[in-house]
Amino acid sequence: MSRSVLVTGGNRGIGLAIALAFAEAGDKVAITSRSGEVPEALAKYDVLAVRCDITDSAQVDAALTEIEAAHGGAIEVLVANAGITSDTLLLRMSEEAFTSVLDTNLTGTFRVVKRASKLMMRARKGRIVLISSVVGLSGSPGQANYAASKAGLVGFARSLARELGPRNITVNVVAPGFVDTDMTAVLTDERRAEIVAGVPLGRYAAPAEVASTVRFLGSDEAAYITGAVIPVDGGLGMGH
Ligand code: NDP
Repeated sequence: MSRSVLVTGGNRGIGLAIALAFAEAGDKVAITSRSGEVPEALAKYDVLAVRCDITDSAQVDAALTEIEAAHGGAIEVLVANAGITSDTLLLRMSEEAFTSVLDTNLTGTFRVVKRASKLMMRARKGRIVLISSVVGLSGSPGQANYAASKAGLVGFARSLARELGPRNITVNVVAPGFVDTDMTAVLTDERRAEIVAGVPLGRYAAPAEVASTVRFLGSDEAAYITGAVIPVDGGLGMGH
């Protein structure tokens, strides 16, 4: 079975690991990023890489049109993974730093999900997985913008789980803890040590450990799971 899979932000980090997991399973995979590049790790697979800034509705529409045409119809598994941080404490946080993070992480996800669900609804099947964060549930000093955007994804997903359930479309959220990627590479060694001290498993996740959960949510085995928030956080957020 080869399904049409789209991973936003699939060129690096967690998104790349997710794209790789679906490609290895034999699915037709498309990735988007602002550069549109095919990363080295995906070069041996027939992956379609499309340039798309998710803050721009016209680019989202054009990218989805290209992917649907190349894959011959509706996207069957959509992984909305693209996201950014712009960390600082509240009193130093500009309105631009707040709205730009919301515009990418939350409204950007809305743009992609809305456009993909058009054909998905007609096909009466589909899987949507949104990449949130443990921080969206627990909060984090210096990340009010990011946490708000990631918490917003939960309400968004649960509303869609109700709205799209009758069309046989599941909508779930994966909430990773700290994962070794470019996004966390900017943290100081001191901050990293503090974080790891709070993680029962005592380490960061590898991107592939998030990808395996996303792949499961996209599989037949997960057909009855919708509106769920699945932590992949080494126990960091236990108790939500
Ligand atoms: P990276 O910074 O490594 O990658 C971010 C990805 O998002 C890139 O592919 C980037 O594409 C894409 N992206 C960002 N802005 C846009 C945009 N405007 N339009 C299109 N694509 C965009 O991050 P991670 O792999 O670490 O994170 C992936 C997701 O996982 C994010 O949503 C993040 O919030 C979440 N997450 C990460 C955690 C971590 O510890 N790393 C923990 C919990 C959640 P481009 O190359 O074009 O910039």
